[in-house]
Amino acid sequence: MHDVVIVGAGPVGLFLACELGLAGCSVLVLEREPELGSPWKSIPLGMRGLSAASVEAFYRRGMLHQLLTASGGNDDPGVNPDPDEAAPPRIAGHFAGMMLDPAKVDVADLPFRLPSPALEGMFTSLEAVETVLSERAAKLGVEIRRGITVSGVAQNDESVVAQAGEDEYAARWLVGCDGGRSTVRGLAGFEFVGTEPQFTGYTMHATIADPEKLRPGFNLTPTGVYLQTPMQGHISMMDFDDGAFDRSQKPTRDHLQAVLRRVSGTDVTLSDVRLASTFTDRAMQTTTYRQGRVLLAGDAAHIHSPVGGQGLNTGIGDAMNLGWKLAASVRGDAPDGLLDTYTRERHPTGAKVLDWSRAQVAVMRPDPYARAMQGVIRDLIGTRDGTTYVFARVSGSSNRYDLGSEHPLVGLSAPDFLLEDGTRLGDLMQDGRGVALDFSIDRRLQGPVTGGESRIRYVAGPARNDLGLGAVLVRPDGIVAWAGDRTPDCEAFARAAGHWFGGPAI
Ligand SMILES: Cc1cc2nc3c(=O)[nH]c(=O)nc-3n(C[C@H](O)[C@H](O)[C@H](O)COP(=O)(O)OP(=O)(O)OC[C@H]3O[C@@H](n4cnc5c(N)ncnc54)[C@H](O)[C@@H]3O)c2cc1C
Repeated sequence: MHDVVIVGAGPVGLFLACELGLAGCSVLVLEREPELGSPWKSIPLGMRGLSAASVEAFYRRGMLHQLLTASGGNDDPGVNPDPDEAAPPRIAGHFAGMMLDPAKVDVADLPFRLPSPALEGMFTSLEAVETVLSERAAKLGVEIRRGITVSGVAQNDESVVAQAGEDEYAARWLVGCDGGRSTVRGLAGFEFVGTEPQFTGYTMHATIADPEKLRPGFNLTPTGVYLQTPMQGHISMMDFDDGAFDRSQKPTRDHLQAVLRRVSGTDVTLSDVRLASTFTDRAMQTTTYRQGRVLLAGDAAHIHSPVGGQGLNTGIGDAMNLGWKLAASVRGDAPDGLLDTYTRERHPTGAKVLDWSRAQVAVMRPDPYARAMQGVIRDLIGTRDGTTYVFARVSGSSNRYDLGSEHPLVGLSAPDFLLEDGTRLGDLMQDGRGVALDFSIDRRLQGPVTGGESRIRYVAGPARNDLGLGAVLVRPDGIVAWAGDRTPDCEAFARAAGHWFGGPAI
């Protein structure tokens, strides 16, 4: 009997496994694929953009260096010579293929964006992410069994059993991280609702006889969309056929060439196609992320178009949010209702991502209405406010949970406070405990934390930039649970600490 069985060793299942392993849970991961690597996961088709929020998650667990190395080491998400003020981003992202100008991001409007080694998004591959996470999971004592396809799930009040062929795997909790076509989702009776697709998307690695006929980057044309990335022969396309082609047939070279010619309005020739697959913009989400002892995370809980690259980022956010809460439930010291805050916080986040993706699809359609909208959006993202708004959405920095506080920092990811002794908040979060950062002169929070150090690390000292605060309480997932002014209110702190970490510890 394990504490937790995770179905699926994709990036989300592995990230969650590491979180649970870090918290001391016994974890078994069951994965259908016999091997970790695959051409679908390596560059170019496995290329994935990580948002600043995801990069921050790796940083906070001490994995950023490994991820950068595994990703080829060309990206540095922390470039920032000034220790006190965050520079504008180097890449700001896009909305529906319309690129943002990083110089137009108004950093003054993002006051909580402090300098950090994880300030920016970066490009990586699924292979790099999974390799780094698998290695860490192994170090944390997580057991990963590959070549096992889960086909049954049964639960009662005390436990849950995953079935694979004749074998059964029992645990106190089970998390389905088994992707967009999740088996666990269906077996455990989750309701999956949303909207049907408008397009079939294609991603391929091909040899193009005359690549000069295609334009680089995102191209919104009168007949569809195509994207040519800087990697030779790596093309994505969107064909607005209501998703009819997807899964109905295998994409042949002739078919891919015909679609590419149509959406690009050229007579470009594909001389060879090495790998190709299809996807759609079907946008669905489960109505809850928990049914008894079964939970869902990642694509198993929400699917949407990959345009704007948010699926993996949302899944990593799920794993960060769920890990410490489930670990506290396993240990038996979770405050009442803690696990339910997983759905309460992550479902609205997922719903926003689905809508963001729908909004992009709506303006990418090859029709006069969408073209008119493109003009409006271009005008808006030509302004500082418009660019800053879109940047805050795509980087994840505007994602704020409603934790019942009016303080603007509560519910947001914590700024990477730098203490005068050179320690950063990110360094203090590597063991997965909460952090009470006390900037007050008289170390007011020391007393209230005493006795709760197994769950909250107490660190006192002045910060280079304390944003006018006297103290903050940061949850293990990096979210600010409470913020106090220059003279922090110890009782309010103790209440917040008890609320998130349990009474007896504080
Ligand atoms: C073309 C494309 C580009 C994308 N680009 C981006 C991007 O730039 N940024 C971004 O954030 N997102 C992007 N995404 C989305 C991202 O790839 C997914 O959201 C992410 O991989 C989901 O991770 P996951 O772990 O939830 O699921 P998956 O990666 O699907 O992993 C699920 C795992 O579960 C296993 N499994 C399935 N069923 C079973 C079973 N019954 N028993 C045991 N194991 C099982 C599978 O083998 C798999 O290993 C893109 C997607 C596509 C298609």
